[in-house]
Amino acid sequence: MYIKFLGTGGAFDTDYLNSAALLEFRHINLLIDCGFTVFPTLVKKSLINKVDHILLTHLHNDHCGSLANLLLYKHVVEKVKPPVIFYPSEQFRQQLYEFLKIQVKDPDKYAEFVALEHFDGITAIDTYGQHSEGMQTYAYIFEEEGNRIVYSGDLAKPETLFEKLEKMPSMDTCVFHDITFNPANTGHTYYKKLLPYLNGLDMFGYHCDPTQNPSDNPIRLVFYQKELMA
Ligand SMILES: [Zn+2]
Ligand SMILES: [Zn+2]
Repeated sequence: MYIKFLGTGGAFDTDYLNSAALLEFRHINLLIDCGFTVFPTLVKKSLINKVDHILLTHLHNDHCGSLANLLLYKHVVEKVKPPVIFYPSEQFRQQLYEFLKIQVKDPDKYAEFVALEHFDGITAIDTYGQHSEGMQTYAYIFEEEGNRIVYSGDLAKPETLFEKLEKMPSMDTCVFHDITFNPANTGHTYYKKLLPYLNGLDMFGYHCDPTQNPSDNPIRLVFYQKELMA
């Protein structure tokens, strides 16, 4: 299992591209999130042909804004089997379906929708309202051969996710968590709130402007880890 980020910025940090990653895992190539910079990035890096499965954390534009482009490209240009889109709940499938319907008319022609519970190794954590009021969001936990990768999605309140993690069997765990350096930002996790969870966990921050990183932040940023970038 390995993960490569396609971008690590927040919604407005376009210099650092939208936060998204490609995960090689259990014989699939899974794209986690597909914001408005992701499709051009995949094309530029010649990685678009690798994507065969897709999983979204939520439906903000910096996480889903180029999904329709990607699906159309697979159909029209690559002429390959439609990618699988995993959905963590029926309600989320419906929201995503409506969103795509406006753009591609018949989403089933361009993607195969599969309930996440039918695939082993991915746990969805429902983080509804913990990023933005009334917004359905999910964090995901991926497990393969004794290794665990945690992907927070956009999350302002990290408690639920870490409580869930504490109850899981111990395993080599690497946490990728969204991070903000502005205590007034209510949509993302202020870095000091993550410090109590650093114990025994590998943790990296993303979804931020790395130039704003304060000198007392011990959490490494994905942006500066070359081996984590696609
Ligand atoms: Zn975001
Ligand atoms: Zn968001």
